[in-house]
Amino acid sequence: MLGPRTTARVFARVPARSFNTSYGAWIDGKDYMPASATTFDVEDPARRTHLASILDSDAATVDKAVESARASFASGVWSRMDVRDRAEILHESARALRKQVPTYAANESIQTGRAIREMNAQLGRLPEWLEYFAAVIRTHEGHCPPFKGSYVNYVKRVPLGVCAQITPWNHPMLIAIKKIAPALAAGNSIVVKPSELAPITVMEFAKLMSECGLPDGVFNVVPGMGPCGAHLSAHPDLDMVDLTGGTPTGRKVHAAAGANLTPVLSELGGKAPMVVFNDADLDEAVNGTVFGSFVATGQTCIAGTRLLVQEDVYEDFVAKYVAKVKSIKIGDPKDPTTQMGPVINQSQLDKIAEFCEVGKAEGGKILCGGKKVDTAGFDPELKDGYYWEPTVIGDCSPNMRVVREEVFGPVVVAYPFKDEADAIAKANDSEFGLAASVWTKNIKKAHRVADQLDVGIVWLNDHHRNDPSSPWGGMKDSGVGRENGLEALNDTLCDFAGQGG
Ligand code: NAD
Repeated sequence: MLGPRTTARVFARVPARSFNTSYGAWIDGKDYMPASATTFDVEDPARRTHLASILDSDAATVDKAVESARASFASGVWSRMDVRDRAEILHESARALRKQVPTYAANESIQTGRAIREMNAQLGRLPEWLEYFAAVIRTHEGHCPPFKGSYVNYVKRVPLGVCAQITPWNHPMLIAIKKIAPALAAGNSIVVKPSELAPITVMEFAKLMSECGLPDGVFNVVPGMGPCGAHLSAHPDLDMVDLTGGTPTGRKVHAAAGANLTPVLSELGGKAPMVVFNDADLDEAVNGTVFGSFVATGQTCIAGTRLLVQEDVYEDFVAKYVAKVKSIKIGDPKDPTTQMGPVINQSQLDKIAEFCEVGKAEGGKILCGGKKVDTAGFDPELKDGYYWEPTVIGDCSPNMRVVREEVFGPVVVAYPFKDEADAIAKANDSEFGLAASVWTKNIKKAHRVADQLDVGIVWLNDHHRNDPSSPWGGMKDSGVGRENGLEALNDTLCDFAGQGG
C-alpha cells in the first residue's frame, strides 16, 4: 500500500478538488436557495471527510424548477431554436467539457470513491454523447408517408416538453449525460434530480452548459433526497420521467408518474451472468470477467455478478479467477495505480456484509474476500474508508438469495453449468434482465446463446462497453425503454401528423 512519500509523487498530476462547499438548486439559469432551507452533506467515501452541503429541495423548489422548464419550453427559446444553433450549443458544451475532463474526473472520483484511472477513461468519452445527439438531430426529420388522392400527408417530430431526469450515484455524470444529451438535442427542457450521494458534478455541468449558450430555464437541477425525487416524478406538469436507479425506486416512480399518464423510461437493477464455455480462451476470459465484475468496485448495474462456468473447466477457471481477484490493487482512488476504491457509504458496506453472511448461511463458500479491507497499511487518512475486499462466493446454486438479489458491490457468485441449454436456462433464471456476456471461441455458438438470453445487452468475449449510438436498457425487472441511440432520441420526441389537400 502507498505511503505518504509515494502518494505525493504519483498524485502530482491529479487536479485538486474544484467545487463549491455548498450548493442550492439551479433554476432558470441561476443558483436558487430558498429562505428556509434544509441541507444534506456529501462525503468523500475514502476519507469520510465532508465535501459539500447541498440543498434538499422541497416541494416548492421542485415546483419552481418545473415551472421554469415549462416557461422556457413554451417560449420556444430552445424548442423552436434553429436546429443548427441548438446542435452548435451541444457541440460547444462538448468542447468545454473535454477541456475540463481531468477536473470533472477528479471531482467524480472524490465524491464516489471510484478509482481515478476509471473516471479519467469514463469522463474522457462523455463529450461523445453531446456530439452524437447534436449530429443526429440535424438529420432526424419527419417524413411524408403516401396518402390517398392529392392529399399531402406529413409527419413532424416535435419535442415532448418537460422531461424529469432522476439519476443514481454510481456514474453520476455518465448517466446524467445519457439522459440530458438526447432530451436537449430534441428541444426539450429538463429538470434533473441527481443522487443525494454524488450530485456535485451534475450541478457544475448545468452551469457549464449555461456558459456555453444554453438559454436560461432549459436545464434546471433540484438536488435532494428520495422525497424530492418522489415529488418530481409525481408532478402533473411533466411530459416524461426518465429514471436510473434501483428496481424498488423504479416501481414507485412508474406508479407515481402513471397516475398522471406520464411516460416513464427506467433503467433499473441487474444481476448480470457471465457465461464461460469450456472452449473459451480461458486466460482472456479470466481477465475480462474480473474486469466486468469489479470495475467501479462492483457498483454498476451491468456488473458481472453471476459467474457461470461449464462444469469440466469450472474448478480450474474459478481458481484462476480468484487468483486474479486477489491481485486487484485496492487503495486511494486518487492514486492512478489503484484499481478498486471504497464502496459509497456505510449502509452499502453493511448491505454487502449482510449478503456475504447470507451467502455463507445458504451454503456458499467464500473463496476470497468476504470481509472489510484491513486498512492498517493504508495512508492514515484512508483508515476509516468504506473498503470491502473483492469477494467471490463458490458452491452457489440458483435459488440462493445472494444469487438472486442485487448486492451492488464487489460480490460475485459462482456456479457451474452442464451444456448450452443448461447455461441459457441458468443465465435466464433471474428476475433481472439487463446485461450478460458469453465467452467462447465458437462464434456461431456465441450468437446462438446471445439470441436466447433474456437481456437487453450482450457482450461476446467482453463485458462492459457503452457507446452513445448503441441502445442500452433491460428486460424484466431491469426497466423499460432504452438509453442511447435513436431509441433514446425518439423517446423524447413526439410524432405529429399533418394532412392537407
Ligand atoms: P436509488 O433507487 O436508491 O436512487 C436513484 C435515484 O432515485 C436517486 O436520485 C434517489 O434520490 C431517487 N429516489 C429515491 N427514492 C425515490 C422515489 N420514491 N421517487 C423518485 N426518486 C427517488 O438507486 P441508487 O442507489 O442511487 O443507484 C443504484 C441502483 O441503480 C442499482 O440498483 C443499479 O443497478 C441501478 N442502476 C441502473 C443502471 C442502468 O442503466 N440500468 C445504471 C446505474 C445504476
